[in-house]
Amino acid sequence: MAENNEEYTYEKLLETIAHEIAHCIVYDLYGEHKGHGDKHKIITEELKHYLLTDKTMKILQKD
Ligand SMILES: [Zn+2]
Repeated sequence: MAENNEEYTYEKLLETIAHEIAHCIVYDLYGEHKGHGDKHKIITEELKHYLLTDKTMKILQKD
């Protein structure tokens, strides 16, 4: 168990989700099983941007 709870933020969760979804997309579209190549990197960044600018994130940042 991690001692530093700062690792468990909403933003970190969204980054993890983006990373894992990118793996699924790269596999589905290109049949690439593993690795963190250019396609994975680009898709992860786009998903992260999408998730972090989502309306929910904006509502949370208002408080
Ligand atoms: Zn990965």
